[in-house]
Amino acid sequence: MQTGTINVQTENIFPIIKKFLYSDHEIFLRELVSNAVDATQKRRTLAKLGEIPAVGSNPQVEVIIDSEAGTLTIRDRGIGMTGEEVEKYINQIAFSGATEFLDKYQGEDAKTAIIGHFGLGFYSAFMVSSRVDIISLSQREGSEAVKWSCDGSPEFTLEPAERAEAGTDIVLHIAEDSKEFLEEDRISGILNKYCKFMPEEIVFGTKTIQEDDPSGEKDEDDNVKQVSVDVPNVINKTTPLWSRQPSDLNDEDYAEFYRDLYPMNFEDPLFHIHLNVDYPFNLTGILYFPQLKKEMELRRDKIHLYSNQVFITDNVENIVPDFLTLLHGVIDSPDIPLNVSRSYLQEDANVKKISGHISKKVADKLASMFKQDRESFAAQWDDLRIFIEYGQLTDDKFMERSKKFMLFKDTTGACHTYEELVEAIGELQKDKNGKIVLPYTSDAKAQHSFVQPALERGYKVLVMEGPLAAHVIQKLEQEYADVQFKRVDSEVIDSLIEKDDAAASSLNEEQENALKPILEGAFPNDSYKLKFVAMAPTAAPITITRSEFMRRMKEQQAVGGGGFQMFGSLPDSYDVAINANHPLAQKLLNEGDDAARIAKRAVDLARLSQGLLDGEELSAFIASGYEELA
Ligand code: ADP
Repeated sequence: MQTGTINVQTENIFPIIKKFLYSDHEIFLRELVSNAVDATQKRRTLAKLGEIPAVGSNPQVEVIIDSEAGTLTIRDRGIGMTGEEVEKYINQIAFSGATEFLDKYQGEDAKTAIIGHFGLGFYSAFMVSSRVDIISLSQREGSEAVKWSCDGSPEFTLEPAERAEAGTDIVLHIAEDSKEFLEEDRISGILNKYCKFMPEEIVFGTKTIQEDDPSGEKDEDDNVKQVSVDVPNVINKTTPLWSRQPSDLNDEDYAEFYRDLYPMNFEDPLFHIHLNVDYPFNLTGILYFPQLKKEMELRRDKIHLYSNQVFITDNVENIVPDFLTLLHGVIDSPDIPLNVSRSYLQEDANVKKISGHISKKVADKLASMFKQDRESFAAQWDDLRIFIEYGQLTDDKFMERSKKFMLFKDTTGACHTYEELVEAIGELQKDKNGKIVLPYTSDAKAQHSFVQPALERGYKVLVMEGPLAAHVIQKLEQEYADVQFKRVDSEVIDSLIEKDDAAASSLNEEQENALKPILEGAFPNDSYKLKFVAMAPTAAPITITRSEFMRRMKEQQAVGGGGFQMFGSLPDSYDVAINANHPLAQKLLNEGDDAARIAKRAVDLARLSQGLLDGEELSAFIASGYEELA
């Protein structure tokens, strides 16, 4: 037997490793299984090159719990290691990786460093083990099997061992405080999280057959006995959908994979995008567009990041643009640096390129859907809208690209591109200064009394609803400088789109002066500003509106923007249009003593229609209505 000391600068690296990675102990299994998978793949490659005999048909990686012995074994039939290689790779290389890791992160806040979920490699085994054995036989002809053993101190032993077949067993003697890693459910949970799509078949089971060999000698069968597990369970799919060619796949394949990824999501996604880049960086993946159902589902754990089919994290913040985190799916890239903390990721040039690329792909996909089947694209618009709007607001390049497929939906359900809309509204919706006015509603039902007259004029009333509408309107006004959005209830219909040709008024100045105090007296306070407008006799006699400008200011204040806080709350302010051509105007002038009562009634009705009559005033209004009937 050979003993030795691992080349340590600090005597106590293992306790540090253990403590340091506390929150993330479970990743030891990912590290060891992916080493086993790598070794298996290397052996396959060598066999393919004809350098070594073909690998058996079944070179699975096995994960075996032996609760009696208190061990967890990770076994592969990969290239294995000679004694010299163990010295080199485990004692020197793996160790230097661990030291480097510690040097780098010791000074930083451990938690933030770890959030990146990167590997410490082989030495992470010591986070959960009181002793680790490596039993390995190299595939190299004439090699002898070796056993390396280390209890977490810098001393190790290396001795000859027995092993029939090339490959490696990593045997973890699970430490007293880590017994959870001998539980079947725990291990299968970890495997399912990190190893579900690793590229070599992985089986998992618990060891039950433990036949003692009375001769004390290991026979050829020994290997088989050791690996016997009850109901070995294949836990992974070695060729996940994203690693395959899109041309070989159909819609059902994608739908099935989606259900695989999100067994708890019962709704099918709207569409998918298969990413496949090999220059200037490597990236594959499948992104699904979920049914967002108008509400923004701000769950940011739906995109899973892999590196060569090894699960890294489901927190892709800073890796993909914010709006894309609304998507579901998988991104696999070996070019995303994993061994840096999250704040560095953002600055990484590759990460920037990758996120720019994904954003472009998503825009391209939407553009091609729009082009290929406009009708179904329009039918899905309500589901797509929030996502697209979110993208437009947060990603200028996406804004630019989205102009091709961005749709404006009107109250009739018709969808127009910007060009189509401008074409369709022609001169009708241009005001006297040539500005295009786009009336919109945020709630067609509540604003019905304004929507209707606008439609009667032949205007197109756009539907701009949802949590982002106000921001989107502002953004669009920046993008299209000669356009102004106006909510339908921000002006009476005659003033909504100001033209030069004002209609004739039935009231002269004297009459207006006589009427004004009567009507003003019917309002509860002076936040209502009256003006006479020559409207159609059939239009409402009194209309209360809030100007687009005032409403936006108020809305901004409500969400804490606009810098108004220091001035206190903005006062309420309403515009009141008195229809000079409505018969009620003449009636009030002729009514004498009863004018104040009638004016109050009319004003109450106008306020009621805007939801501005409440409390005591509303009760009094209703009571007097009943009185009239009695
Ligand atoms: P990394 O895998 O990042 O190189 P590790 O510390 O996990 O770092 O492993 C160090 C080296 O030990 C590997 O590069 C590999 O050469 C060798 N090694 C680890 N596990 C195995 C295994 N199961 N079979 C063969 N070689 C292995």
